[in-house]
Amino acid sequence: MKDNTIGEKIKALHATLPQGVTLIAVSKYHPVEAVQAAYEAGQRDFGESKAQDLTAKHDALPKDINWHFIGHLQTNKVKYIAPFVHLIHSIDSYKLLCEVNRQGAKAERRIPCLLQIHIAQEETKFGLTPQECRELLAQGEWRTLDNIELRGIMCMASNTDDQEQIAGEFSQAQQLFNEIKEHHFADNDRFSIISAGMSDDYPIAISHGSTHIRLGSSIFCE
Ligand SMILES: *Cc1c(COP(=O)(O)O)cnc(C)c1O
Repeated sequence: MKDNTIGEKIKALHATLPQGVTLIAVSKYHPVEAVQAAYEAGQRDFGESKAQDLTAKHDALPKDINWHFIGHLQTNKVKYIAPFVHLIHSIDSYKLLCEVNRQGAKAERRIPCLLQIHIAQEETKFGLTPQECRELLAQGEWRTLDNIELRGIMCMASNTDDQEQIAGEFSQAQQLFNEIKEHHFADNDRFSIISAGMSDDYPIAISHGSTHIRLGSSIFCE
């Protein structure tokens, strides 16, 4: 795909997205040149799903890019991204949160994190069930972790053409966010992120409160 087309898509998206919605360009599987083209069109938030790819692109590209980690994160890979990652979207266990905290301490920073919630019907998607998420937060030990900061939740809807099902899943995620916010973050304005919506379903996600959409193929492929 031509680099100028990537730039045009970025500009068109920025012109139409509602205020308060952050566009994350998911550059996984796409070369540094494609990221550079999007960067030149003004894009600053990019997402990758593998630690090695995130690190390689961070090294090769301008340093004012916000790098989002959106894939399944293994504990033994946290150390590679901890020094620079802008937001980890995929916390799916307390163990992983503890490792991010440990590596955050080594890197002398507080790493922003989202809890990944499993709302889709599919078995294969990672994430905490709503009940596991409630239990993790109610347990309370996360409050002792000084080198992470919980900023919100991330979710993926089922991969289906059924718009009502997708809307129902995003609505469920939004309700869970509101519940968690009320119970655990009522006095914390920074717990404010719902990362939801990909190329095929982002308008539905936005209508259910998404603040961060993650678009790959609609920017880099079609
Ligand atoms: C690949 C990926 C995306 C982007 O998906 P598209 O359908 O290409 O927009 C978003 N979120 C996650 C977690 C992904 O792995």
